[in-house]
Amino acid sequence: MFVGHYAAALAAKAAEPRAPLWSYIVASQLVDWGWSCLVMAGVEKLHLDPSLPGSHLVLDEMPWTHSLPGALAWSVGGALLGRFVLRVPWAAAAMLGAVVFSHWLGDLLVHRPDLLLYPGGPKLGLGFWNYPMPELILELGLVAVTAVLWTGQRKAEGRHAWPAALFVGLLVGLQMINALLPGDGAPEAMARTALLAYIATAVWAWWMDRHPAPGRRVV
Ligand SMILES: [Zn+2]
Repeated sequence: MFVGHYAAALAAKAAEPRAPLWSYIVASQLVDWGWSCLVMAGVEKLHLDPSLPGSHLVLDEMPWTHSLPGALAWSVGGALLGRFVLRVPWAAAAMLGAVVFSHWLGDLLVHRPDLLLYPGGPKLGLGFWNYPMPELILELGLVAVTAVLWTGQRKAEGRHAWPAALFVGLLVGLQMINALLPGDGAPEAMARTALLAYIATAVWAWWMDRHPAPGRRVV
């Protein structure tokens, strides 16, 4: 799952708007920010198999980021960062933590079994990646539905809808690029590309949802 994770961020922003959009966007992929860094550091391991349907990722070892206890720890960390660094209200901090954990649930749906239930335990994954077209429709559908909710929240604040449409367009573009990548490169290069995509999406979310200067029309 790639842009489908961002659906949780959009739904959370619609339900609890007191945390900035970019923080929800980062939260929805926080586990993968960590994963990209740990793959580049050689701590977590993957290889690519272009013969696989859907995603070409074979995620050999990722106990620190994608095990159930690991994901829970990242979620608590995300909530605490939201509360004590971003200084959002507790309800928004809890929402940030829930969005971090939603990543693991999304991965559980699409990954082939590679998510450790506990250290040394069984690996979970329902394997929806094996059905590339329904999986793509699911990801884009989740983004579309939650984007409507989020746009409704923006309109309720008297803000324009078009930046939301632009943002969703960017997500769809990223998903298409992701689907068309050859998937036969080095793992470290793949992790670096993924991290750049996560950073670009977060910066775009920050820019698009930033507070307007006094006297300026809100976008
Ligand atoms: Zn992941």
